[in-house]
Amino acid sequence: MTLVIGLTGGIGSGKTTVANLFADYGIDIIDADIIARDVVAPGSDGLQAIVDRLGHDILLTDGQLNRSKLREAIFNDPELKSWLDGLLHPMIRQQMTRQIQQASSPYCLLVVPLMVENRLQTMADRLLVVDVSETVQIARTTARDQVDEAQVRKILAAQASRSQRLAAADDVIDNNGDSHSLRGDVARLHQHYLLLSEQNSPK
Ligand code: ADP
Repeated sequence: MTLVIGLTGGIGSGKTTVANLFADYGIDIIDADIIARDVVAPGSDGLQAIVDRLGHDILLTDGQLNRSKLREAIFNDPELKSWLDGLLHPMIRQQMTRQIQQASSPYCLLVVPLMVENRLQTMADRLLVVDVSETVQIARTTARDQVDEAQVRKILAAQASRSQRLAAADDVIDNNGDSHSLRGDVARLHQHYLLLSEQNSPK
């Protein structure tokens, strides 16, 4: 099977930017955020189960899941949160596995923002962590999203710490620098992963 490189990092660390650079080399990207949206898309078993439990009020008028309403319901009900995790996490893992099996590039990238938090690094052969200082993380996230520093700090507090992520890493990209040095790091890692994928493939 294709060598699987897990890619993770905190909010605003540069996961998407890094994944796009690997995609430029023709590497297949499996994105947990996209899969997490797909498993509750209109017509999905996931959305049907949520409607069965919470009623049609959990839908927007266009039939999409009302995410902010669901977030609020979960916030006030830990039992609902564990029910939802129990429903959706296996669906997400199954879809990730399917996409890994379908990958056709020499290795593939499994991008999971909460990989360490959800212990999903077991689905990857190696873990690549994109690391930045908190200062850089806050500056880039506030510049990208319509959020202030306090909101970013709240999100940071709910995520794994830098040291927890780094402790799980096999490879680290330091993304405190500019985009030029990032490109160089990705180029070197790409060569490294190509070599590993050759060793990994059946003789
Ligand atoms: P994530 O997917 O981890 O949340 P992004 O890849 O979206 O992070 O990066 C966060 C923001 O920082 C984006 O606006 C991106 O363009 C910018 N960014 C990423 N890496 C760099 C870099 N090395 N130099 C400057 N800006 C960067």
